Amino acid sequence: MSGMEFEAIIGLEVHAEIATRSKMFCSCPVLDTTQAEPNQAVCPVCSGMPGTLPVVNRRAVELGLRVALALGCDIPPVSVFARKNYFYPDLPKGYQISQYRYPLAVNGVLEIAVDGERRPIRVRRVHLEEDTGKLTHMQDEHGAYSLVDLNRAGVPLLEIVSEPDMRSAAEARAYGEALRQILRYLQVNSGDMQKGVLRFEANVSLRPKGATGLGTRTEIKNLNSFRALERSIEYEIERQSALLRRGETVIQQTVGWDEAREITLVQRGKEEEDDYRYFPEPDLPPLVISAEWLASIRSALPELPHARQQRFEQAYGLRPYDAGVLTAEAEIADYFEAVVRAAADVPPRQVANWITGELFGLLNRQEGRITHIPLPADEFAHLLRFVQAGEINTAAAKRVLAEMLESGDPAAEIIARRGLRQISDADALAAWVDQVLNENPAEVQAYLDGKEGLLNWFFGQVMRLSKGKADPQVVRRVLEGRLQALKGE
Ligand code: ADP
Ligand code: MG
Ligand code: ZN
Repeated sequence: MSGMEFEAIIGLEVHAEIATRSKMFCSCPVLDTTQAEPNQAVCPVCSGMPGTLPVVNRRAVELGLRVALALGCDIPPVSVFARKNYFYPDLPKGYQISQYRYPLAVNGVLEIAVDGERRPIRVRRVHLEEDTGKLTHMQDEHGAYSLVDLNRAGVPLLEIVSEPDMRSAAEARAYGEALRQILRYLQVNSGDMQKGVLRFEANVSLRPKGATGLGTRTEIKNLNSFRALERSIEYEIERQSALLRRGETVIQQTVGWDEAREITLVQRGKEEEDDYRYFPEPDLPPLVISAEWLASIRSALPELPHARQQRFEQAYGLRPYDAGVLTAEAEIADYFEAVVRAAADVPPRQVANWITGELFGLLNRQEGRITHIPLPADEFAHLLRFVQAGEINTAAAKRVLAEMLESGDPAAEIIARRGLRQISDADALAAWVDQVLNENPAEVQAYLDGKEGLLNWFFGQVMRLSKGKADPQVVRRVLEGRLQALKGE
């Protein structure tokens, strides 16, 4: 087998908590489990007391349907909850309510973009279930023990399962990122992977290049960052190809990603579906989705990222890259459009440049990833209109913007306070130009002798004299006029 070329096959299972106020089958609140005190949101239902009954959270179903529609899934009129039986200390009922044979939605598609090329990845199914609690493993003077926190037990969860359509770690990452972006657009999930609200499992197998069947896969559990997703898949591809090249076989297994050592470790033999003894949940009726309900959810869907990016290119004449940056987050895209509306006289491309360039630059210094702009769109539009009207120059506007972010004061106030109003009056500027030329006779002579590059130096001197307030275009015109006249003498 050595020398043989392999192709990687990857399918992803994604667990996304659904951002509802209450849990999937009871009225306990959904708390930020990284912040709340343990076991603050627990009731007889989600702690699995006998005699309690689950009630489906309508909002969770609605948000799940939003995702299914956005992925272009078929949505059967009836889906069925099922019990997935297994014992785990953070699963107090001894089973998880999930959906099995009849999921909420099937046959969707998610387009990914890798190296500028778009490619569809099929989505096999989308189903509803409930999250488990959380265990914390302790080791101290009392010995080894585990703490159980049920705040997360029963939180609505959406599982989104792809077909094995991805061929590289980069594609898997692109799929993960595209899904996260859509979940955020739909306001179904914050995408905050550090908080564990969005979790990935990657199934990886290899097959000889050109073959059509599927090889034996391993499943990498609980990947909590895009880096982990990508690195762990790369590692698994390497590990499996080494095995196959040596003539050994891949064993179907569940593996875990050791973040620190960047290797996968075997957790357990892969469980089979039969092991879970799935059966229809007797305490819940089949979930019926009426055509009217579905239609109303569909009509309330927001414009999705790719459509919005294309519209930004066409309607505002933006470059694809800028349109992509501005539509990465719905809130940023909304902001851009609000500024464009409020500053109708400023070309949209200019607005885009100011946001992705100067504004992002200033915000980056303070935060990191930009999801929110702490400056009202109207205020920002005011500033851009001052620039457009020639009342302040670009350099001054950058200073004003920084100060707006810092102080929260309106542009007009800062411009007045700092005396930044641009001076475009040619007569006023001519006095500064003359002053610079008079004070630097040696440089003037050098210029006249052919050192043309000194023009920029003169320009800089005039701008400095004006404390940055001179209109650069007028300064250039006046300066060139004066030097031309000197040449003629
Ligand atoms: P399970 O739920 O037991 O993990 P599924 O059949 O539901 O099994 O598949 C889970 C995921 O594994 C899906 O995303 C699917 O695309 C992917 N998958 C299935 N077979 C393979 C394979 N041979 N190689 C890579 N991915 C696979
Ligand atoms: Mg699986
Ligand atoms: Zn509860």
